[in-house]
Amino acid sequence: MKWVRDPALLPIVEKVEAGERLSFDEGMVLYRTPDIPSLMRLANLVRERKHGQDTYFVHSLRFSQTNICYVGCTFCAFQRRFGEEGAWDWEVDEAIEWVRSKYQPGLTEIHISSGHHPKKPFSYYLELVAALKKNFPGVQVKAWTAAEIHHFSKIAKMGYREVLTALKEAGLDAMPGGGAEIFAERVRRQIARAKVRAEGWLEVHRIAHELGIPTNATMLYGHIETLEERLDHMTRLRELQDESLAKGAKGFMSFIPLAFQPDGNRLADQLGKHEFTTGLDDLRNLAVARVYLDNIPHIKGYWATLTPEVSQVSLDWGVTDVDGTLIEERIVHAAGSPTPQGLTKEALAAFIQAAGRTPIERDAVYNVVKVWAPPAPLMSHQRAMLSRPSSRG
Ligand code: SF4
Repeated sequence: MKWVRDPALLPIVEKVEAGERLSFDEGMVLYRTPDIPSLMRLANLVRERKHGQDTYFVHSLRFSQTNICYVGCTFCAFQRRFGEEGAWDWEVDEAIEWVRSKYQPGLTEIHISSGHHPKKPFSYYLELVAALKKNFPGVQVKAWTAAEIHHFSKIAKMGYREVLTALKEAGLDAMPGGGAEIFAERVRRQIARAKVRAEGWLEVHRIAHELGIPTNATMLYGHIETLEERLDHMTRLRELQDESLAKGAKGFMSFIPLAFQPDGNRLADQLGKHEFTTGLDDLRNLAVARVYLDNIPHIKGYWATLTPEVSQVSLDWGVTDVDGTLIEERIVHAAGSPTPQGLTKEALAAFIQAAGRTPIERDAVYNVVKVWAPPAPLMSHQRAMLSRPSSRG
């Protein structure tokens, strides 16, 4: 393979070309290799094997019914206390009115994540899902992270299975992947001490998968974690996905690495760290995820943290989903993300086409809503050349 410059990558490339799973140590080689172009080609090989040129996005409204939260994660600039400036706490009818004011024709997903409100009863959340489904028929509700489900189970004094069953019966279609942060206990104690522990997060998703609720998974990186802790995080997700797929579940639909946003939060101040992750760290992380997480269909290049520009480049690094229009994203913007608070479908499709890929508009659970025009023929030709590394080696 003439294109591989780092000899340590050779056995890994052979395994990936043969469709074999990488070990933890091989994953670490990917994190450490200086041979960046080969890593990119390897990730692109896996991406195109799974999805060809297809690149997904969703027309999605971001919605948080409150930012009141007692948990106090040190990386979070979104949380507020009762009465604090900028706090909001909506009743169901106020939430519905807000969604109505932002609603756009063709919207397919309402994505909800919010604070851990100490006083709202569990019945509030059931009413909210039911009201959203009733007022916006045809829109899928992808709501509440595993950390929030854990919170609901505490306030309702119900098990995870009962909570998720009740939410599904009220209309819940899917779950976002937040609250995972980094699973390693060492890091979790420092950045998210009062949040659900890794085992609880994984158990919520295990049960959701069993109940037929597809989910996503995130990883917050770029703060105090080591590279080994990042790969440990992915390993635990890969193991759970094996379990879920063996039971016939859809499981995790996508993996979303989230770059730490270094403004307006205690962790950034404690670390004295006010720089964003570098583009290369972001891209390497996505590429490692694409090659290592062989059983998760999509790796998401979430443009709200990466920037649209890096997200566009990431389509050559294993990414097959850029998330979506994200009307009114507030959480990463509270922590200093300089990206726009939403992009139109046309803008997203154009940036995918300009990268030589075909935009596929999807819903919350990856049903295809619309296949947009493919990229110009010359770009397709260039892409086809890029997609066949082994034929040149
Ligand atoms: S990340 Fe979520 S749980 Fe943690 S403080 Fe912020 S809103 Fe609360």
